[in-house]
Amino acid sequence: MLVNEKKHAYEHLRTLFGADCQADAFLARYTAARVGGQADVLLLVNSVEALAQAAQQLWELEMPFRVLGGGSNVLVSDDGVRDIVLLNRAREIEFDTASDPPAVWTASGVNFGSLARRAAAHRLSGLEWAAGIPGTVGGAIFGNAGAHGGDVAGNLLMAEILHQSGTRKTYSVDEMGFEYRSSRLKREKIAAVVLAARFALTSGDSATIQQKMDDYAEFRRRTQPPGASMGSMFKNPPGDYAGRLIEAAGLKGTRVGNAEISPLHANFFINHGGASASDIYALISQVRQLILQEFGITLELEIELLGDFLPLG
Ligand SMILES: Cc1cc2nc3c(=O)[nH]c(=O)nc-3n(C[C@H](O)[C@H](O)[C@H](O)COP(=O)(O)OP(=O)(O)OC[C@H]3O[C@@H](n4cnc5c(N)ncnc54)[C@H](O)[C@@H]3O)c2cc1C
Repeated sequence: MLVNEKKHAYEHLRTLFGADCQADAFLARYTAARVGGQADVLLLVNSVEALAQAAQQLWELEMPFRVLGGGSNVLVSDDGVRDIVLLNRAREIEFDTASDPPAVWTASGVNFGSLARRAAAHRLSGLEWAAGIPGTVGGAIFGNAGAHGGDVAGNLLMAEILHQSGTRKTYSVDEMGFEYRSSRLKREKIAAVVLAARFALTSGDSATIQQKMDDYAEFRRRTQPPGASMGSMFKNPPGDYAGRLIEAAGLKGTRVGNAEISPLHANFFINHGGASASDIYALISQVRQLILQEFGITLELEIELLGDFLPLG
């Protein structure tokens, strides 16, 4: 429930954003793992300009907020989120087939997988590796998403970033400071929003592009479990795989409530229906403790925690 101060803030935002502003919105429906409590206030944006304006307004009103893209790399607390949640559904796309190299400009709320498939429909190659990634372009840039040997750093030409100061800046790949599943924005917790991006592509042959995407999809089907999850829970430690360690510790199939460490891929934690964030968090704690005990390795989360959680040991 909204307390008075929040209620006042909500009413003010409602006058600014109308029906796109919702109170007490359940976040489970906006996350890939299908868990999470309520956001006191959820603000839906449908274009790059609406995203920029909303972020700017919230900074000016000194109202803390978090951008939520596909919700495929976050675990939202059962108690929900007190910061305002800015749900990014900015979905403009423009292909530039005449430029050299060919490129695509995309809003940050576009689903990354569907961007890859749209590029393929234009006979443009380069993003095949991204076809199975469920989140948005903004989330992928924030965390330098990658798969099958490709990653955002390898394709990005530039990202348009809005800063709290109101400055709208174009970042080159070097300026983004990409590392394994990380960017400068993520590491340095910079108060900034990814508005849009431009990716380099190459002209290709439809059948070859499609074949590559089919092969990657088949690989995922064979090696990754279906069902509600956040993808890989932990980053791979240097020279090893989180999944291999969890499997070696005998934790595959471990359950807390309706949350399970997948018997197919030990770095995927599945919500079989009705699991809570606390169930998943209990599995995270258990895995970290046992891996430290057995192998002397502290696994680092690949996903992010949204809302309040007890500190991990
Ligand atoms: C089944 C499954 C398979 C997956 N496979 C892969 C894979 O192969 N490779 C891989 O790298 N990941 C994978 N993931 C994880 C996830 O899909 C990616 O990390 C994805 O890029 C996250 O994007 P998102 O929009 O869902 O981000 P969210 O989960 O919504 O947000 C993640 C973080 O990014 C921030 N953020 C989001 N948008 C913006 C923005 N516009 N500006 C500033 N900050 C922003 C959020 O505030 C949050 O801190 C998988 C997930 C699932 C569920």
